[in-house]
Amino acid sequence: MKRLVLASNNAGKLREFQRLFAELDIELIPQGQLGVSEAEEPHATFVENALEKARHAARATGLPALADDSGICVPALGGAPGVYSARYAGEPKSDARNNAKLVADLATHSDRRAFYYAVLVLVRHADDPRPLIAEGRFDGEVVDAPQGEGGFGYDPHFFVPALGKTVAQLTPEEKNPISHRGRALVALMAKLHEDSL
Ligand code: IMP
Repeated sequence: MKRLVLASNNAGKLREFQRLFAELDIELIPQGQLGVSEAEEPHATFVENALEKARHAARATGLPALADDSGICVPALGGAPGVYSARYAGEPKSDARNNAKLVADLATHSDRRAFYYAVLVLVRHADDPRPLIAEGRFDGEVVDAPQGEGGFGYDPHFFVPALGKTVAQLTPEEKNPISHRGRALVALMAKLHEDSL
């Protein structure tokens, strides 16, 4: 079985990703288990941050590495919060304050469209000149009043008109196949089927 380092220690992501990688006979190992420190995320774009994290994990372990980066983008706010989604309202990071800031920033806007965006970057080694890159997008609208108890981050304020619910009202089984990360993962799997590790 081939081994791949996941440049994240998020248990939810590990579970979501592991299931699909097992089908390709690839074992996904969280970087913390191999003693890898967290990489910096200094860049203005999702893809640069994901590439930085993947390279860092590959360099530290000598194994191929997979990293993701994601966030929420609001066209009426010029794409913000974007790569700053986790810390939109500053340190220490807080979902409640991030959501309050997003709702306040949109108070004078009638265009409530938003989308979650995720990018996955896989490098075969730290200096791989041709990383595999896959993207996914999940469209919705920002609502002022939170609804639902599930999910995390912006989910209680992220309404999906086609479903008539916020993402916090979806089960993981409903969210994962249609989410930005789920779609990016399916796109990455297609690339990996054509172009192995
Ligand atoms: P990261 O890619 O795990 O660093 O996520 C960045 C931030 O984007 C998170 O802290 C959340 O604020 C936001 N985010 C990314 N994906 C989701 C999601 O599926 N639901 C809600 N918030 C999300």
